[in-house]
Amino acid sequence: MSESLPAAPKPGIRRAVVTGAAGFIGSHLARALLQSGTTVIGVDRRDPNDPAAAPNLAALHGFASYMHIGADLLTCAIDPLLFDADVVFHLAGVPGVQPSWGPQFSEYVSSNILATQRVMDAVTRMRVPQLVVASSSSVYGRTSGGPSVESDHPHPSSPYAVTKLAEEHLCLAYAARADSPTNVVALRYFTVYGPRQRPDMFIHRALRSAMTGQPLRLYGDGHQRRDFTYIDDVVRATIAAAAAPEATGVVNVGGGANASLIDVINTANSLVGRDIQVHVDTARNGDVLTTRADSRRARAALGWQPTVDLPNGMRAQMQALAQPGHRAAA
Ligand code: NAD
Repeated sequence: MSESLPAAPKPGIRRAVVTGAAGFIGSHLARALLQSGTTVIGVDRRDPNDPAAAPNLAALHGFASYMHIGADLLTCAIDPLLFDADVVFHLAGVPGVQPSWGPQFSEYVSSNILATQRVMDAVTRMRVPQLVVASSSSVYGRTSGGPSVESDHPHPSSPYAVTKLAEEHLCLAYAARADSPTNVVALRYFTVYGPRQRPDMFIHRALRSAMTGQPLRLYGDGHQRRDFTYIDDVVRATIAAAAAPEATGVVNVGGGANASLIDVINTANSLVGRDIQVHVDTARNGDVLTTRADSRRARAALGWQPTVDLPNGMRAQMQALAQPGHRAAA
């Protein structure tokens, strides 16, 4: 029997731009890229000393191949940031359903749509070969409860979701131009959680309540279900998307745990060993009953499947929250 040839090493990413690098997902992504030897240019408009940014950026300290640019993508010169980049991971954006109903909507439009158009213009001009953009499961809106497939007709049910769908379409429209050198992959993230999760998100709020004894406000009856997706799984899918072939298009990144908000509360109770005091409030506009990802395309196009279940993922998040000095544990 002839000896098989060793597998050719996969070419890594030499140089990447991560927008939203001072955010929850962007900082984890940037760190993973740096750990694998990629040079990373991180861009974010937040003041690095802002309490929402500092712990995220602290995860990037000590990497000589990290360069941070404090800039707003709505106004800054983007071309120089893209020089020689193999890929742009465009994660900068304004997230969250509830504030998007009010006067803050203009911020959603500015960052998620107008800034994205400037990024796509620059990426096309600078001939960046690949762009991965963070979209959202929220674009599906109200579903029958079954898994959402990428080809399903989207019914965004909040202003936030409308901007994410527009963002996705905008990036794909640029990629479809005859003169476009850029392949675009839009990842529809499903409720991402793990260490440094945004404080407005449910798992963060539930763990904080369990750990501090402060009551937890629950909107609706708690039977809303989500595909909770652990941050390390999301980062793996995002890096895999940098090598996804042309015409991959839109891909769901969700799974690991389909659970209700009540399941989250019970898991937090048992991890911390104390029952959360729950204050029930009315359901909020735009909060859908169920999100669930059909992951077949992610498996086929990215070779990806989720690996972390809810108790293990929430345990890791709880341990991070318990670290001395964690801003949100107080
Ligand atoms: P985050 O708020 O922690 O990070 C977003 C970062 O983008 C922030 O640091 C912010 O300062 C930066 N930013 C916003 N507008 C900018 C601009 N105009 N110029 C420069 N920087 C700007 O949010 P996150 O949870 O890490 O989400 C990252 C992306 O993933 C967002 O696009 C969000 O819509 C998307 N997403 C997140 C989730 C989730 O569960 N967290 C789910 C679906 C989609």
